[in-house]
Amino acid sequence: MAETEIEKTKCLIVGSGPAGYTAAIYTSRANLSPVLYEGIQAGGQLTTTTEIENFPGYADGIDGFTLMEQLKKQAVKYGTEVRRGVVTACNLSQTPYRVTIDGKKEMETETLVICTGATAKYLGLSDERQFMGKGVSACATCDGFFYRKKDVAVVGGGDSACEEALYLAGLARKVYMIVRKDYLRASQIMQKRVLNHPKIEILFNTNTRGLFGDDLLEGAHLVRYPGEAQEEKFDLAIDGFFLSIGHRPNSEVFKSYLPTDENGYLLTQAGTPKTILPGVFAAGDVADPHYRQAITAAATGCMAAIEVERYLNTVEK
Ligand code: NDP
Repeated sequence: MAETEIEKTKCLIVGSGPAGYTAAIYTSRANLSPVLYEGIQAGGQLTTTTEIENFPGYADGIDGFTLMEQLKKQAVKYGTEVRRGVVTACNLSQTPYRVTIDGKKEMETETLVICTGATAKYLGLSDERQFMGKGVSACATCDGFFYRKKDVAVVGGGDSACEEALYLAGLARKVYMIVRKDYLRASQIMQKRVLNHPKIEILFNTNTRGLFGDDLLEGAHLVRYPGEAQEEKFDLAIDGFFLSIGHRPNSEVFKSYLPTDENGYLLTQAGTPKTILPGVFAAGDVADPHYRQAITAAATGCMAAIEVERYLNTVEK
């Protein structure tokens, strides 16, 4: 059997959200000829968002997909090689580092910038799997179209849940928000928008016990004030059930070499994207449990790129 060919590079970037593309723009402008693997979701989480109103420089807002296309174009323009592929294994026990793509392609790299982002969480109900694609979704912008003039629910009370609820309210007949506490965690401006929207009804202090339906989803079994004296179980007739309860960092493949916090976020040296390994950097949501914004991801991608350049200058001297 022929031995797998190993491709060598100075700078390997994994992930194609704002962190990955910003790292790519900076390292390619520094003549480091980076190779970027897009990962599971090309363009990252922003491609599933609607309008982005808080990315500096876009006074009229920009949709997530367009922003990511622009970032990609900018990275490619300066020499980044963007490829499809997912990191399936790595060996970071010695330099140069080894990274396996899609279980077959071997890359050997002097520096590695991990920008693998985070993935949507599910409640863990067995019914979620049963109705996946038949009423259950974790992306309103991807699937909202199928629920025009129907009744839907969004689980969660954060900014994402509010954003999803508002998006769905533009399509659906009625949008319920299932919120487990008696308040929304979202920013004031988003709270105001959902609370004032005529099509959105918020069910506070409410949890989901299960889902029901024959083939397609027909509703959710809910409980208000679970475990308390006034506990009340009831069913809600809905066609769509959208999860928006946060994200899990995509750090699994690097965990045996790099420390993480209790939720799996990669740990970096305070105020830098440096990991414990020289030449290995982590940027964006995979290393950020606090801010998780497109602009902060882009910023840490930039910092990682500058650190890549500094590191290569040191080892090449
Ligand atoms: P958050 O962690 O902010 O919110 C998650 C929500 O889901 C909370 O209301 C939480 O409830 C709820 N939740 C979590 N687990 C469960 C569960 N098992 N059952 C029921 N409910 C659950 O996540 P987001 O994705 O909303 O936001 C992540 C970050 O991104 C935040 O910093 C946010 O500000 C930012 N963001 C900013 C946007 C913008 O500025 N345009 C848009 C979207 C996100 P509880 O409150 O009870 O913990």
